[in-house]
Amino acid sequence: MKEISLQEIKKRDANDALASFKNRFVNEENLIYVDGNSLGKLPKESIEISKQVVEQQWGSRLIRSWNEHWIDLPQKLAAKIAKIVGAHEDEIFVGDSTSLNLYKSLFAVLNLQKDKTEVVTDTLNFPTDYYVLDGILKQHFPNHKVIKAESSDGLITELSDLEKVVSDINASITLSHVTYKSGYLYPMKEVNKLAKAKGSIVVWDLSHSVGSVPVNLNENKAEIAVGCTYKYLNGGPGAPAFLYVSREMQSKLENPIWSWFGHESPFKFSPEFKSHPGIQKFAIGTPHVLSLAIMEGGLNVHLDAGIENLREKSIQQTELFIQLFELHLKPLGYELASPKDVEIRGSHISLGHPEGYRINRALIAPKSNSKEIIPDFRPPHFIRIGIAPLYNSFEDVYEVVMRLKEIVLNKEFELYSQERLTVT
Ligand SMILES: *Cc1c(COP(=O)(O)O)cnc(C)c1O
Repeated sequence: MKEISLQEIKKRDANDALASFKNRFVNEENLIYVDGNSLGKLPKESIEISKQVVEQQWGSRLIRSWNEHWIDLPQKLAAKIAKIVGAHEDEIFVGDSTSLNLYKSLFAVLNLQKDKTEVVTDTLNFPTDYYVLDGILKQHFPNHKVIKAESSDGLITELSDLEKVVSDINASITLSHVTYKSGYLYPMKEVNKLAKAKGSIVVWDLSHSVGSVPVNLNENKAEIAVGCTYKYLNGGPGAPAFLYVSREMQSKLENPIWSWFGHESPFKFSPEFKSHPGIQKFAIGTPHVLSLAIMEGGLNVHLDAGIENLREKSIQQTELFIQLFELHLKPLGYELASPKDVEIRGSHISLGHPEGYRINRALIAPKSNSKEIIPDFRPPHFIRIGIAPLYNSFEDVYEVVMRLKEIVLNKEFELYSQERLTVT
């Protein structure tokens, strides 16, 4: 593996067309933030929006703001998210949590395909995705079964391993587009094709891909997807999620939770429910105005930067990370727990180390005068480095690797306790 100098790395930053986007975020001195895949940074524009919406719209205009700003807010955001994920704006609903959108969509699919009694997922999915699915089956489809495609290495699921479990009794296949631990990026188009051939409907979870890799839902013939906005999209802590349902699927699916905002005409106050015909049928109650409004700052930064440009930089950065890993970290007991092949890798890298937890603590709260570095930790011993090309530089990547090296070389992790904090 070729050595690469800090000077060369600095040159890459100097030539990086996206470098100035970092200034659109609130940045702390002496902190390298590599956890944008869990909670993205605060865009400066979102501070202005929050003042507007709280002081002016709520404070001064009160209920008049519903007509002036708020009632169309979810659609305004949907149009922006649609551009980011390659969909039509009337195919995106913005609101609720990712878990809740998963519930609505999986329930609707199972209800539509009652004669099919299996649901396929894999062994790499996010816990909430399993819980939502198991809950629906236990409470409403007790004779259905969950079938998990096996991963041979714990990092990726080969298409051939997925094929083994896909059959014409699958009501649905539900997968994370980018898996939360290893960062494996599924070939979406191929999976959709495989499912279609068996009459199965794929429900994609885009939480770890949206904002970091092009999703191209229409082009990849996706039917249903959900996604999170507080990760790479910088929407803010607990920001509302989104749901994509293709135009063709909308009329076939029914929201299991009926509410006035999913009604054809909510302000008729009719005592009988009549579902909205379009994507709005998936709304549940009044939109979360404050958190929706703040989300817009993050979406604007993405639209200005361009998702293809972000992917290009992210590829270069994760490639640099792996190159430096081979040179400096592998000899110290670190293992790469993400795919080596860039075509099937998202924007975060997982590193395993027997002392992973204490190394993570040493990164976050150094007892030396090193910079603070914030990644996150996933049990049993994985450190996840989420690289956000909007605000992480090539030099950040270099510094993270050098700190990981130093902590193990100097046994700095021994200064930390094994005791786990609540949120890691
Ligand atoms: C982050 C994440 C979620 C989060 O779900 P919430 O309902 O927002 O808590 C769901 N699925 C995946 C794959 C995630 O990465």
